[in-house]
Amino acid sequence: MCGFGGGGSSSSQKRLMYNDDEDESPTMEMVELGAGRTRNVLILMSDTGGGHRASAEAIRDAFKIEFGDRYRIFIKDVWKEYTGWPLNDMENQYKFMVKHVQLWNVAFHGTSPRWIHNVYLAAFAAFYAKEVEAGLMEYKPDIIISVHPLMQHIPLWVLKWQGLDKKVIFVTVITDLNTCHRTWFHPGVDRCYCPSKEVAKRALLDGLEESQLRVFGLPIRPTFTRAVLNKDELRVELELDPKLPAVLLMGGGEGMGPVKKTAMALGESLFDKETGKPFGQMVIICGRNKALASSLESLEWKIPVKVRGFEKEMQKWMGACDCIITKAGPGTIAEALIKGLPLILNDYIPGQEKGNVPYVVNNGAGVFTRSSKETARIVAGWFSTNADEHKRMAENALKLAQPEAVFDIVRDIHELACQRGPRNFPYVLTSSFSSLI
Ligand code: UDP
Repeated sequence: MCGFGGGGSSSSQKRLMYNDDEDESPTMEMVELGAGRTRNVLILMSDTGGGHRASAEAIRDAFKIEFGDRYRIFIKDVWKEYTGWPLNDMENQYKFMVKHVQLWNVAFHGTSPRWIHNVYLAAFAAFYAKEVEAGLMEYKPDIIISVHPLMQHIPLWVLKWQGLDKKVIFVTVITDLNTCHRTWFHPGVDRCYCPSKEVAKRALLDGLEESQLRVFGLPIRPTFTRAVLNKDELRVELELDPKLPAVLLMGGGEGMGPVKKTAMALGESLFDKETGKPFGQMVIICGRNKALASSLESLEWKIPVKVRGFEKEMQKWMGACDCIITKAGPGTIAEALIKGLPLILNDYIPGQEKGNVPYVVNNGAGVFTRSSKETARIVAGWFSTNADEHKRMAENALKLAQPEAVFDIVRDIHELACQRGPRNFPYVLTSSFSSLI
């Protein structure tokens, strides 16, 4: 058992450790108390899409389940809160660029060479060093976890400039399944958690050592894996038809891709003209895309349809449905695999999502088509004459799923923290960041 496994810290412990006004020299008592205190974990993310936050929350929840209050977790977009343009506006820039996919394509591939992204990230680091330092140090992190491709270089440089790079544990958790951007890979990290062997190969090619890499899978919120959810009960709770097979249609956190066109095609294909009855139902989750939700709500449907906005309990909607149509977002794919849902991928963001398509299709867990009509035809087949294919893909999805990944990741981070030992953490004997430098 690790040396600081003694549960949460009491308020008197906190007073000794965090009282910035006290100028006491360290005593044996303080060392002991410091050794037993709660560790601070800062997870760096940005709401560029819905996947980074979902992974951050998954890691936070898994820490809580595994280690109770031994770790205090902060999920933050430090760029947004502390720096200025353009770092503080990544959400809007990302939204704009992925709407104009060619622009995103150019940005993704144009910034791929190491010398290019090193130069511009170093410039941002130099320009915003004080702000980033303030943002990081507000949370006095013992461990920093980056779940975003643009949150390796700048914080690592700032830690280095402040002489903290050997004291604060820094790990990257990659949230793309295959063709990820090279900014994810930084040789200065203590660990780089890769969701697949393909990503690990890329990391090795980019200069990371094998000892830095772990391949566990994409971290998915424990609510997807730990809670036993019964489909019949979920259908009652979510007010879905109890008998009709259900297709879930979505487009990531932002409701992207051909959602409306696909919904309209499904509205026709799941209606049996001969009997005048529907043989399927549809749930459409629009995420933060309010315009999409209101436009779909205004339509008339021949089949039962539920239109929803941003849902906090995706595990329930996935648990109540029988298959999913989505753009190739890694978070949605990994969640759907855990729930054993065959996938129809109808779009992908160029660059980071491109490789997710073969990941699903080559493993027999789904198909890719951009045609709404073809999508509607496939779902109608799965719900009637082609049920065998649906069953086979559902089984393959479950085989590909990695429900334990998030727990493997937090246990490994805990191991790292144990190896580092309590005395080597930055805040054991000192109370403020500035006193270290
Ligand atoms: N998501 C959610 N509620 C919604 C829509 C999406 O929690 O209403 C979650 C979804 O479950 C997944 C993430 O947002 O975890 C989307 O991540 P993905 O990587 O699929 O796509 P992104 O939005 O990052 O492009």
